Amino acid sequence: MAPRGIRHILGAGLSATLLLSCTTNGGDRRAPEPGRSTGSGFTMHYEEPTQADRPSASFLRDRTTAATAAHVLNTLLTLNQQITVASRSCNGEGSAYDPQTRTIELCYDDTTEDRALFRNAGRHPADDETAAIATETLYHEAGHALIDLLDLPLANRQEEDAADQFAALMLLRTGPTGERQLRTAAEAYELTTATEDQTDSRDEHSPNPVRAANHFCYLYGADPDHNKDLTTTGRLPSARATTCPQEWAAARTAWTTRLQPLLREQLE
Ligand SMILES: [Zn+2]
Repeated sequence: MAPRGIRHILGAGLSATLLLSCTTNGGDRRAPEPGRSTGSGFTMHYEEPTQADRPSASFLRDRTTAATAAHVLNTLLTLNQQITVASRSCNGEGSAYDPQTRTIELCYDDTTEDRALFRNAGRHPADDETAAIATETLYHEAGHALIDLLDLPLANRQEEDAADQFAALMLLRTGPTGERQLRTAAEAYELTTATEDQTDSRDEHSPNPVRAANHFCYLYGADPDHNKDLTTTGRLPSARATTCPQEWAAARTAWTTRLQPLLREQLE
């Protein structure tokens, strides 16, 4: 999975410079989507990709992956500010949320890397997997945006874990498709664990094996009967599995409470 965590950390202090650099590298800005150019809520914005990122940019746009997630967020939440969701080429910097400009940056090159991750694991064409990771990434970054908007007292690892829990919440509430996507995101962390150096001290996220286990735990905790395979295959150690229903309930309650001022409809 692309190094989206590192970007977020740098974003805390150097985001303006980095985002400017990405914009320059990514090419011309396109006009905002019709009906989404102003106002509040999550607003899609697509930029021209680099030549290498064209297939991923077309995939994300045609599949309306991020746009669908943004629509789900706007249906659930009422915001008095705009959060721009900018899809662009980032030259490996990784997707991120920039609190200074209230922009979620979704990187086309992340999508290219994520597809390669699954293809290298023998999964072709990996369309569903690629879309799943893009969706989970948007929800994770949306979690950061909401923590910022709500001025929640969370920072560093605590904030990152809360953003992962928000992504899990959004995926699990969409039923079987979201459950599959959460499982896929956990699998991506597993695969990345095997292929990437996990020792970057700047990364505020939990290590990838922990993030994989957490996502599996939330999945299992939300519906143990339906996800028994996670324990029988050893993906989720039985000692951890016993605490997952409580872990998921606590994470879900925490976000339901935090979001209360913004909810258009009750979280199910
Ligand atoms: Zn993050």
